[in-house]
Amino acid sequence: MGGGYVGLYTALGLQRKLKGNEASVTVIDPQPHMTYQPFLPEAAAGAIEPRHVVVPLRKTLKRCHVLTARVTRIEHATRTVEIEAPDGHHERVEYDILVVALGSVARLMPIPGLAEQGISFKTIGEAIYLRNHVMAKLDAAATTRDPELRRKLLTFTFVGGGFAGIEALAELEDMARFATRYYNELEPTDLRWVLVEAAGRILPEVRESLGVYTVLQLEKRGIEVYLSTLAKSFENGHVVLSDGTEFDSDTIVWTAGVKSNPVLATSDLPLDERGRLKATATLQVDGMPDVWTAGDNAAVPDLSRIAEDPNALCAPNAQHAVRQANVMAANIVAVLRDRQPKDYFHKNVGSVASLGLHKGVADVYNIKAKGFVAWGMHRGYHVARVPTFNRKFRVVADWLLSGLLRREVISMGQINNPRAEFDRVSRG
Ligand SMILES: Cc1cc2nc3c(=O)[nH]c(=O)nc-3n(C[C@H](O)[C@H](O)[C@H](O)COP(=O)(O)OP(=O)(O)OC[C@H]3O[C@@H](n4cnc5c(N)ncnc54)[C@H](O)[C@@H]3O)c2cc1C
Repeated sequence: MGGGYVGLYTALGLQRKLKGNEASVTVIDPQPHMTYQPFLPEAAAGAIEPRHVVVPLRKTLKRCHVLTARVTRIEHATRTVEIEAPDGHHERVEYDILVVALGSVARLMPIPGLAEQGISFKTIGEAIYLRNHVMAKLDAAATTRDPELRRKLLTFTFVGGGFAGIEALAELEDMARFATRYYNELEPTDLRWVLVEAAGRILPEVRESLGVYTVLQLEKRGIEVYLSTLAKSFENGHVVLSDGTEFDSDTIVWTAGVKSNPVLATSDLPLDERGRLKATATLQVDGMPDVWTAGDNAAVPDLSRIAEDPNALCAPNAQHAVRQANVMAANIVAVLRDRQPKDYFHKNVGSVASLGLHKGVADVYNIKAKGFVAWGMHRGYHVARVPTFNRKFRVVADWLLSGLLRREVISMGQINNPRAEFDRVSRG
C-alpha cells in the first residue's frame, strides 16, 4: 500500500529479486506515480518541468500489478484491505504479505481560517498550483488600482521552517523576484515574503549554525523571519501572529509538520501515540511478521542512536525511507526463502537544502557548506537519488536548458479552471 518513496523502492527491489513463480506483487496508490518530493520546490520555481519530478509506476514497475485506488480500511485479521477505485466503487483485496507505506499528511491545527485559506506543499498538484498562484498574484497586483489589495496580493506567508517550507519559500521568492523584471508596474521590493516558525530556529535537520546562516541569508533577501512565533488566525486572509503582528496575505502556505497517514487509524494494526505503526528493527510490525512497514508512517527504532536514547526513532525523511525500503525488500525475500531478516541500521549522513538558484546550505558527512557549493551538492545528491535513469536525464536536461535560456516565468493559471473560456463562449 502506497507507491511513494518506500512503496516504489520496495516494489523495485522485489521485482528485481523475486523469480516470476515465487510471488506476485501489487502496488496500490491513488496516484499513478511516485513523487520525488525534494524536487517539488524546484518544480514550483520552474527550474524543473513538473512531469519530470514524478516517476510513473506502471512504466517503472513492469513486473508488478499497479492498482490506481485509495486504501480506505485495513483488516489484518482477515488479511484484506478495502479500496476505493477512481469510479467510486469499493472492493476488497486479499493478501498474504502486506507492506504499509502510506507516508504522512499535513498536520493541521485548529487555527481560524487555516482550512479555507491555507495550502500545503506535498504533492505535484500543490507545487504546480502554487507556482501559477504566485504568478497570477503578480499579474493581478500589476493591474489593480487598489493599494490595499495590491499589498495583500503581493504578501506571501509560509508557516513552518522545516525543509519543505524553507525550500518552497526560498525557491518561489527567487522566481518571483526574477519575474518582476518583466513587469513595468512591479519592483522586487513591492513583494513581501514572511516566514513564521514556532520554534526558536529553522531547519532542525542541519546544525544550528547553518540554521542561523539560513535565517541571515533569507533576511538579506528581504524575507521577514518570525521565530518563536505562532500563527493565531488567517481569517479572510488576515494574518494574526502571537507577537501581535497583523497583516493581510493572499497566499498562506502551511508546512508546519506532518503526521502519519490517518487511514492507519481504521486498521487493527498496533499504532504508537502519534498514529505511526509500531515497527521492529527488521521493519516488521510489532507481533505481526507478515506486515512490513517503513517511511513516514512507521515508528522504526534508530539503532544508530539507541545507546544514547533507548527510545530513539528514525526521523521521517527520504534518507531513511529509501534505505529502509531497500532493506525491507531484501528482508521480505529472505523470509520467503526461510532465511532470517536483518536489522535496519543507518547513521544519519546529514542534509542538503536549496535556497534558490545558486544558493544553498549543506551539512553532510560532517562537512558544512554554504552558497554555491552547497547548492551544487544539493543538485548532485538529488539527481543521484531520483529513481530511474529516465528521470535523472530529464532533470539534468531541464537544468541545462534553464541555465542556457534562463528560467521560465509563465503563469499557466488557466489549468485551474479550463472550462472558463468554453463557458463564456457558450453563454454568448
Ligand atoms: C517539499 C518536500 C521536500 C522534502 N525534501 C526532503 C529532503 O530534501 N530530504 C529528505 O530526506 N526528505 C525530504 N522530504 C521528506 C520525504 O519526501 C519523505 O520523508 C518521504 O517521501 C517519505 O516516504 P514515504 O514512502 O513514507 O511517503 P511518501 O513518499 O509520501 O509516499 C506515500 C504514498 O502513499 C500514497 N497514499 C496515501 N494515502 C494512500 C491511501 N489511502 N491508499 C493508498 N496509497 C496512499 C501516496 O499517494 C504516496 O504515493 C521532503 C518532503 C517534502 C514534502
